[in-house]
Amino acid sequence: MNFRLRDWLLSRQRFWGTPIPIIHCPACGEVPVPDEQLPVTLPADLRGEDLSPKGTSPLAAVESWVNVECPDCQGPAKRDTDTMDTFVDSSWYFLRFVSPQFTDGPFDPEKINDWMPVGQYVGGVEHAILHLLYARFFTKVIHDLGMIDADEPFSALLNQGQVLNGGKAMSKSLGNGVDLGEQLDKFGVDAVRLTMIFASPPEDDVDWADVSPSGSAKFLARAWRLGRDVTSAPGVDFATGDRALRTVTHRTIADAEALLDHNKFNVVVAKLMELVNATRKTIDRAGAAGGAGGADPAVREAVETVAVILSLFAPYTAEDLWNVLGHPASVANAGWPTHDEALLVQDTVTAVVQVQGKVRDRLEVSPEIGEDELRELALASDNVQRALDGRGSVRLSSGHLNWSTSSRPSRSGKTLSGRRIRPAAGHHRVPRQQAQIAGGASCPTATPQGGRG
Ligand SMILES: [Zn+2]
Repeated sequence: MNFRLRDWLLSRQRFWGTPIPIIHCPACGEVPVPDEQLPVTLPADLRGEDLSPKGTSPLAAVESWVNVECPDCQGPAKRDTDTMDTFVDSSWYFLRFVSPQFTDGPFDPEKINDWMPVGQYVGGVEHAILHLLYARFFTKVIHDLGMIDADEPFSALLNQGQVLNGGKAMSKSLGNGVDLGEQLDKFGVDAVRLTMIFASPPEDDVDWADVSPSGSAKFLARAWRLGRDVTSAPGVDFATGDRALRTVTHRTIADAEALLDHNKFNVVVAKLMELVNATRKTIDRAGAAGGAGGADPAVREAVETVAVILSLFAPYTAEDLWNVLGHPASVANAGWPTHDEALLVQDTVTAVVQVQGKVRDRLEVSPEIGEDELRELALASDNVQRALDGRGSVRLSSGHLNWSTSSRPSRSGKTLSGRRIRPAAGHHRVPRQQAQIAGGASCPTATPQGGRG
């Protein structure tokens, strides 16, 4: 691999740059600033006139700062007045962030080894050749010096997309800029953030002309209103709640978990919208349909789940919802909900029974049904029996369910074979059983029942 690490430009002097911790002594030469005097901080009183050009580095104008005692011979000496540019800070700030209060060095090695490397770096693609390479270079040097275990600063990189307007980058000359302050005033920060997140995956561009902050605001209000309709107490046993809604809740948790791992935040929001709709329906089903409405423990479970997942995208709304639900602050400390695998399994699936290519029956069976049991059920079907006309026999060979019309083997010899029906135990999705047909026909196939899920 070839790293095109570029030379570091130090010639652009700024008074706020990073001081170089070297003291120049006429007798001793270049003397490093002793550890106990680090870090060298900029003079606090460098203002106004002091900053006007004088043919030297801006720092050189501050004599009280420049003139110091030589650490070695105690004679008069001067600080280095050149400064390094911001790349020096961005090359290792993540190490300092781990222990910002640490005073015995640049960072606490114990904490570094606990936290580093950074799990996910999010930044614009413009950082690829400078900042990110410098950061890697710094980390590798610090690693080689034996100061930290990690030899890479970041485990994963995400280049976020751009916000466009009408297909073009926002710019003053085009006059297509959107005033973020106005948007925030009008819709609130939660709605604006949710709008960006819902518009696309983070690595894609967002076109502001295509999005709807008012739609996001409406959704947030709809989610928040659910909290007011929950009448059960915090801590109620969810297990007695409506099974259908519980399935939606737990599938949302499971799906969100997987989607978040792949940065598909927009799809998580879509799932959240589905959960809010399902919860609203369950609440409104009270009375006539015999449902418990807002008193149903499953409703509390669903709305608490909405609050926790929503806190990732709309923390203010989520915090308020958490409060409305009767919980102490903060929803951020609520922890991620655990989904129950048992609730994800569908109650039944439809097994389609075909004989010589024609559908003869549909059987509602458990997704965990075994081959033998399914075969018996299929054979017990009147329709299947009629189709086989009493001549059918079913046998199992090498993991395949074979149907044959045994009375006429020499003429038709048709063997209908399909892939083994596998139990779906422990899976939250019932696998669609695709029959691979020999001789143009198929045997029982199980397909997920339509409807929820
Ligand atoms: Zn000296």
